Amino acid sequence: MNPFFNPVCPIESLATETAFGVSVDVLRLDRLHPVVSGNKWFKLNYYLTEALTAQKIILTFGGAFSNHIVATANAASNAGIKSIGVIRGEEPSTPSPTLVQAKAFGMDLYYSSRSAYKTKQLPAEIGERYAPEDLYVIPEGGYGTPGMMGARDILLQNNTSGYTHILSAAGTGTTLAGLVAAASANQKVIGISVLKNNFSLQNEIDHLLPTDRKGQFTLLHDYHVGGYARRSAELFRFMNDFYAETGIPTDFVYTGKAFLAAFALLRKNYFGQGANVLLVHTGGLQGNRSLPKGTLIFGVE
Ligand SMILES: *Cc1c(COP(=O)(O)O)cnc(C)c1O
Repeated sequence: MNPFFNPVCPIESLATETAFGVSVDVLRLDRLHPVVSGNKWFKLNYYLTEALTAQKIILTFGGAFSNHIVATANAASNAGIKSIGVIRGEEPSTPSPTLVQAKAFGMDLYYSSRSAYKTKQLPAEIGERYAPEDLYVIPEGGYGTPGMMGARDILLQNNTSGYTHILSAAGTGTTLAGLVAAASANQKVIGISVLKNNFSLQNEIDHLLPTDRKGQFTLLHDYHVGGYARRSAELFRFMNDFYAETGIPTDFVYTGKAFLAAFALLRKNYFGQGANVLLVHTGGLQGNRSLPKGTLIFGVE
């Protein structure tokens, strides 16, 4: 378990039983922190441990609205580790609130042109200031075995053995891999891919899993709403209705799509009568900051 931060996230029940004959609970990783995305925090844990042991500076990558960047900035600062963020694109004249927050947590930001970013080429100033051996690089989104190991704790911190289905949004799939690793053989783990036609995700998740857990999950590729960070009026309507009914905020990049998918699946009787479904609210509402005011009936802190 996390040596730096060991929270237990609450599980809440939704009133779906009467409508669908399926019990649905939500594991609220979003309750960890108003700014830092819950699943990112879990994924970072083992990376932080390694960086701290090696006495290195953490360096990681992300976009201007990246949940991973703020989470790394905050987690590194809690652990007393210096952190550097390489941000995709030219420096904007007004930095995004996400970047302002990352900076406030003590992260040094460097901007990288989209082409340099793609090849993971580090900005020249970083090379001038730091020796490569002083840097501990965390891949974008925390993808990797330490990330998967951290994500296992998402399920292990509560008693979740009674759920028949566990559903989560999947970006890099690191979080899903952790859920699969922690789940038992009779539990079905379902990932809602938020990227369009990202079929290599299957292999990327398998790559992180121990042999006996490989392939023990289902990816659904029909709920990306047009692709990564794409949105629709239907998605916003769902997010607002879901908030009005449950008081649970979601984001349009990850959890909004995952929960929209979950309700579409409920209507199709995908889970079967009597199923006990756990929706993992992975946290992170940063993406909503990029939306025009008034799109959503709830705000982002
Ligand atoms: C980053 C993020 C994800 C995706 O997690 P992966 O481990 O990359 O699949 C899901 N939900 C939220 C809220 C996130 O911030």
